[in-house]
Amino acid sequence: KLTSREFHPENTVVDVDGVKIGDGSMTMMAGPCSIESLDQIRECARIAKAGGATILRGGAFKPRTSPYAFQGLEEEGLKYIRQAADEFDMKVITEVMDEAHIDMIAEYSDILQIGARNMQNFKLLQAVGKTGKPIGLKRGISGTIDEWLNAAEYIAAQGNFNVLFIERGIRTYETATRNTLDLSAVPLIKKLSHFPIIVDPSHGVGIWDLVPPMARAGVAAGADGLIVEIHPDPVNAWSDGPQSLNEKTYMRMMEEVHIMEKAM
Ligand code: PEP
Ligand code: MN
Repeated sequence: KLTSREFHPENTVVDVDGVKIGDGSMTMMAGPCSIESLDQIRECARIAKAGGATILRGGAFKPRTSPYAFQGLEEEGLKYIRQAADEFDMKVITEVMDEAHIDMIAEYSDILQIGARNMQNFKLLQAVGKTGKPIGLKRGISGTIDEWLNAAEYIAAQGNFNVLFIERGIRTYETATRNTLDLSAVPLIKKLSHFPIIVDPSHGVGIWDLVPPMARAGVAAGADGLIVEIHPDPVNAWSDGPQSLNEKTYMRMMEEVHIMEKAM
């Protein structure tokens, strides 16, 4: 298999327009769950960058559980996140939910994110694979490691070797946390595949004060990077406020992460 370590023994370094992921350093991605306004995403970019992130996250097309919940600002949001990222010299990662939007989103975003709910949307995987762009492939809500590897294979089979695995927790019997962050996936994916793996502790636990310790645990497990949700005012966030870090808690977490990085 193209994704397997056997096929490609060396680590694949994914080059996001100059930002290298999987080269032995930690790549930090941060931003809000949803892009809400130009001001909000600019403020998130300022905070993200101040803490050391090089990639700005933010959803413009949101896979919400309820059809009545905010679904995202769509193309307007894409314009805002691109402007904010350019202002702070950052790259963009944002989710693609629909094949029909790929060309538009690819104009604004450096990395195309496949959400957990679409990990096995095989047509979508093939279509994003064809763009040749870096793809952030979230683990499915109930995705096994083998299913996740096969999902990456759908992308690689299109000749796209710019895949990033993103561990964001899986559904288990436990309901005290939003998901169960499966950190064993980090060394296991590194053993089985040559592509980088990023940890998303925000969706992994769903509770903001559990995010920093699990971020540190992700670093300890050998992740190539982290993706975390931040918001200038989490209480009033339009989505995922309870798991979002504010400026102060994000900056403190990043200091800890940088100390760990140096020690490793
Ligand atoms: C997100 O990144 O905001 C998101 C919806 O994540 P997931 O697909 O992992 O639930
Ligand atoms: Mn979210």
